[in-house]
Amino acid sequence: MPTTTADIAATVSGAREVFDSGVTRPLAARTAGLRALRAMLTENEAAFEAALWSDLHKGAGEAQLTEIGVVLAEISHTLRHLRRWSRSRRGPVPLGLWPARARLVPEPLGVVLVIAPWNYPMQLLLDPLVGVLAAGNTAVLKPSELAPETSALIARLVPAYFPDGTVRVVEGAVPEATELLAQRFDHIVFTGSGTVGRIVMRAAAEHLTPVTLELGGKSPVWFDDDAHLDQAARRLVWAKFTNAGQTCVAPDYVMTTPDRVPALVEALGRAITDLWGADLRASEDYGRIVDERQFDRLVSLLDGTNVVIGGDHDRAERYLAPTVVTLSGDRLSVGPDAAHPVLREEIFGPVLPVVAVDSAEQAIDVVNAWDKPLALYVFTSSARTRRLFEQRTSSGAVVHDAGLIHVAASGLPFGGVGASGMGAYHGRYSWNAFSHLKPVLRKPLAFDTLRLAQPPFGGLGSRLAQRVMRRG
Ligand code: NAD
Repeated sequence: MPTTTADIAATVSGAREVFDSGVTRPLAARTAGLRALRAMLTENEAAFEAALWSDLHKGAGEAQLTEIGVVLAEISHTLRHLRRWSRSRRGPVPLGLWPARARLVPEPLGVVLVIAPWNYPMQLLLDPLVGVLAAGNTAVLKPSELAPETSALIARLVPAYFPDGTVRVVEGAVPEATELLAQRFDHIVFTGSGTVGRIVMRAAAEHLTPVTLELGGKSPVWFDDDAHLDQAARRLVWAKFTNAGQTCVAPDYVMTTPDRVPALVEALGRAITDLWGADLRASEDYGRIVDERQFDRLVSLLDGTNVVIGGDHDRAERYLAPTVVTLSGDRLSVGPDAAHPVLREEIFGPVLPVVAVDSAEQAIDVVNAWDKPLALYVFTSSARTRRLFEQRTSSGAVVHDAGLIHVAASGLPFGGVGASGMGAYHGRYSWNAFSHLKPVLRKPLAFDTLRLAQPPFGGLGSRLAQRVMRRG
């Protein structure tokens, strides 16, 4: 595996040579790349499940649903539509340029770097790769060092399934990532924290490399659907405590009115037992915190809160029970000025604050007072309240009556806005992100209307041409 500076530079230049040779451009090569990726997953499912279990205590069911299955679905969706996306289309030509013809020709960008985080170490590395390959690029993958088994598995499998070097892997942590970022790429897809996102964007600026940044933040929830309390609670705890809360689009905190808090907390408790059983620690379906640093951070977030569900933890096992907390104090804010640490930063773990606010309008003010979230979830039976959140807040996505599910919709763009990210991918949107749509015009030499755009000006012809041009 490349680890030295020279190795990393050679890996990137190798990927560039393959791209420059043109082998990745034909539709057949792109399709073959996607099939190779599919084979890499389907022929090694057990190995992926084992790696995810080792890195995150992710059970086989969850690994299939949130990692392997998501990437396979993205591959199927892309293979179904690739021929249509790849076609060049006729482009419009304004009257002033007639006679002329224009086509819009999609072309690959070149070498794309994909940097992934540890929480969905397979999905967030390979899902962007689907679009990168579909668009005819070559790729350099940088898996997360904090999911070492998944990283090692991918590093071992990629050369076997992509022997032509269209996809390459550089394993490692900050030094390797820094060295990679010093290289020139044609696009960078980064998924991770805003802090590192800034580092990536600065490095990319040196080469004027465009970036897709998939970042995080606090994704809020509004709840006032008394008639569907238990269903809402079940969906909420599923969205929150899947992967032990270490999901970029996990509900971060729930806002509801003070009178609803007791019933909601009770329903959340019932739902947790329903999903993971009474002995959570023994559940094969409940994850672990990725490392001690994150574990200590999460446990310290509980200080100053009222733990109303869970809270038990075991550092040796990196186990933290699904935990619900309430907060006292009358000045509610979210962001760096918040009174409680748990509302100051993205929680990114199995701690769910239930926060009392006066009304949906006040909840909207809370959301709008800080960074635009990656997702916003609304559980209400009121169409007016749904509209209110859709129209008066801005977020990467809005989901009503559920959480997380938009990630699995290959036809929808997935991404953040403002501090939660830049650019979007999945399906067609990956195609758009990793292709350049190149207009190609042809102006026949015969019937040379361009002469009217050339000096000397002032004749009847050029005045007429100016008029036509203005009409667009
Ligand atoms: P991170 O930013 O610490 O690390 C992400 C990647 O960047 C890793 O591969 C890491 O090796 C690399 N990296 C770390 N420091 C670097 C540096 N100085 N220079 C270059 N590269 C560096 O993020 P994480 O802890 O792995 O993931 C957690 C964050 O990711 C959370 O904020 C979460 O919300 C966000 N996230 C976002 C999405 C999304 O799709 N929007 C998905 C998952 C996670």
